[in-house]
Amino acid sequence: MDTATHCPYCAFQCGIRLSAVDDVPTVAGDADFPVNKGALCIKGFTAADTLAHRDRLRTPLIRTARGILEPASWDAALNRIADGIRTVQATHGPDAVGVFGGGSLTNEKTYLLGKFARVGLRTRNIDYNGRFCMSSAAGAAIKALGVDRGLPFPVEDIAHADVILLVGSNPAETMPPLMQYFQAQRAAGGTLIVVDPRRTVTAKSASLHLRLTPGSDAAVANGILHLLVKRGAVDLDFVRERTEGFDQLRGVLATYWPERVEKITGVSEGQLVSAATLLANARRPMVLTARGAEQQAQGVTNVLAFINLALALGKRGQPFTGFGTITGQGNGQGGREHGQKADQLPGYRKIDDPAARAHMAAVWGIPEHEIPGPGRSAYELLDDLGREGGVRALLLIGSNPVVSAPRALHVEQRLRSLDLLVVADFFLSETASLADVVLPSAQWAEEEGTMTNVEGRVILRRRAATIPEGVRCDLDIIRGIAERLGRGGHFAFESAAEVFDELRRASAGGVADYSGITYAKI
Ligand code: SF4
Repeated sequence: MDTATHCPYCAFQCGIRLSAVDDVPTVAGDADFPVNKGALCIKGFTAADTLAHRDRLRTPLIRTARGILEPASWDAALNRIADGIRTVQATHGPDAVGVFGGGSLTNEKTYLLGKFARVGLRTRNIDYNGRFCMSSAAGAAIKALGVDRGLPFPVEDIAHADVILLVGSNPAETMPPLMQYFQAQRAAGGTLIVVDPRRTVTAKSASLHLRLTPGSDAAVANGILHLLVKRGAVDLDFVRERTEGFDQLRGVLATYWPERVEKITGVSEGQLVSAATLLANARRPMVLTARGAEQQAQGVTNVLAFINLALALGKRGQPFTGFGTITGQGNGQGGREHGQKADQLPGYRKIDDPAARAHMAAVWGIPEHEIPGPGRSAYELLDDLGREGGVRALLLIGSNPVVSAPRALHVEQRLRSLDLLVVADFFLSETASLADVVLPSAQWAEEEGTMTNVEGRVILRRRAATIPEGVRCDLDIIRGIAERLGRGGHFAFESAAEVFDELRRASAGGVADYSGITYAKI
């Protein structure tokens, strides 16, 4: 007997079959799932190892007066949290309590965290680790295209593009099952151009590797587009009808002649010409970016430059072409759509939009004026921890910023300065080991929920194992705290499916509208 579910790790969300062999949870690829088609990487094959791991947390921990984390009951832990929140808010105001989430949480959890911050805690301070991940791509996409959708087509399209420009991505090592589509593209006679400072495994497999100087991504894009303009390979009808600002861009591009671009980027003039020629002659060109180009101080500029390139190639309405970004974290797409961002309400609505606020007030059953305004985004939130006017009590779920945040040592110091740090995790992570209260939470296979994968497909992660004794799921944890704060009525969900039903109503009419999706349909 096995259960069809999904790997908990990256945005590919491979279909897996989880079974118990001699009582040991065992993972196999699910050949029936149309995205990975049975393929897995080592992370997926070993995903079940964490379920019964001996270091797993199985009881709440509370820091004692002697500064030691000691086992405690759930009641004691939740009471300590509620007392701490009340004390901090009474002294410093509602915004002195913050919530920090993650891009690997299910859609239901990200929705509930956003609601918990605004309705349960009445704080404006909530954000998540996705800010360090894809925000440049999101910012550029909204600026250029008006919508933030990582990959706006199925991964299957990759196999049918004739020329792909892949920027700052190494899926051969980071998302190996995705490579089957690049291999199919090559087998069909397609060409892969990789833009990456490193000679990665993916770059080695490419027809052309543009090995640029780190940080010069936008110059590479501008250099190629300069050559496309020069050879008349820009789709001017499309540009005229569907874009704006091309004349200004043309002025900028004039300064990116090949010799200069070679000096800036280290990519030879010959290689730039080769890339431009391949793209100019392509019938189905595709441009894909990822974290390599995005996680830079000028990440938005980099992505905008590659979007310009994709738009200039035109190919309006044609399949197997276009621009996309490859999401990274397990719920990289859904994680940024349901309201765990500082400036956002569910459905990818802006929190300062009066219509969005009125809609959410009706869904949540509270007066509109009770919904706080925009809060600090992730780094600002962490940077201000413990300071006057900053967050003094933080609830952290699905993230380990002591390891993953920028300026991690600085962030660790800020976390140490808090009046109250609460961490829900499976293991005593580096961040959890600093906490005043640690809550042992359920893992991926032990609870149900939906994720939105790399191609925007909403998938159902089925429950395939029971929650160990002493452990609780995040939905129960949030409800337990809310009840102690007198807000339990807003969080009386019995299942993830019930949360999803409210999420559907909340997102209805928004940019990211999930109202037509049901568990039964998935
Ligand atoms: S590619 Fe991603 S989703 Fe698939 S098995 Fe590896 S980590 Fe899991």
